[in-house]
Amino acid sequence: MSGRFAPSPTGELHLGNLRTALLAWLAARSTGRDFLVRMEDLDLVTSSPVHERQQLADLAAIGLDHDGEVVRQSERFDLYRAHIERLEHDGRVYRCYCTRREIRDEIDAAVSAPHGLPDGAYPGTCRDLTPDERTEREAEGRSPAIRLRTEGEWIDFDDRVLGHQRGRVDDVVLARADGVPAYNLAVVVDDELQGVDQVVRGDDLASSTPRQILLQQLLGFERPEYQHVPLVLGPTGRRLAKRDGAVSVSELAAEGWTTHDLVAVLARSVGLASSSEPSSTITAERLVDRYDPALLPTGPSTYAELQAFRG
Ligand SMILES: [Zn+2]
Repeated sequence: MSGRFAPSPTGELHLGNLRTALLAWLAARSTGRDFLVRMEDLDLVTSSPVHERQQLADLAAIGLDHDGEVVRQSERFDLYRAHIERLEHDGRVYRCYCTRREIRDEIDAAVSAPHGLPDGAYPGTCRDLTPDERTEREAEGRSPAIRLRTEGEWIDFDDRVLGHQRGRVDDVVLARADGVPAYNLAVVVDDELQGVDQVVRGDDLASSTPRQILLQQLLGFERPEYQHVPLVLGPTGRRLAKRDGAVSVSELAAEGWTTHDLVAVLARSVGLASSSEPSSTITAERLVDRYDPALLPTGPSTYAELQAFRG
């Protein structure tokens, strides 16, 4: 039984990532699970070993240890492709030759999105191409993406933070036109093969969960428990990012924050510690017994709120 934290090594972790990591670690440790770290470095252009080392150091700095070796998605493409082949064998994939622009134009031209599908869902243009139509597109030099062939499935799941959730699955991309496996497929394969039965992550990913559950079902995998935790937003209301100021461990340290301050602020912002408890007494380890996903806030925090919690 394992929980996990799965960052993309594309920069330093910021307060929002660190809070998600803390909560994932607390969820695992408070239930006797191993805690795994997986690098979601499918994007070989933006990912780097330098950022990976920095992120692991940041986790260690706030007292989050992990079990086993760090797994990198960039080293597992063959595994992902083998699972796409299983879906293909079952008739659950098709090749899509559309460009982003063509998809956008088609969505814009439609009167309304099909009921229940997420915004921007693929309109199904290439679902039923004839062999001649496929040949024609390949003769134009187009390489296809591979999409899941859905059948209007609705997925229900109970989130330990958000409660009951329901969504319809679209024909999500499983492998991009350049051959790189897609996030939703990779995550499902990794969680199964790594024995992850508890998924704690930012609630911006809750809308992708029905896709991942359907993939689990089609591949015969167990469904993990889900806890989608609130994000930290920057001043413009979008998720916190580097441009929003001092947000990383090193930047905050340069402004005089100790790692105790950091853990204390993260804990206070989700109700795991009170402002009257001195920061110097708050560590990740001491929060383990307090963790209960049902008591977490379901709305986002702002960077300004977090700074105010420093006291
Ligand atoms: Zn298409």
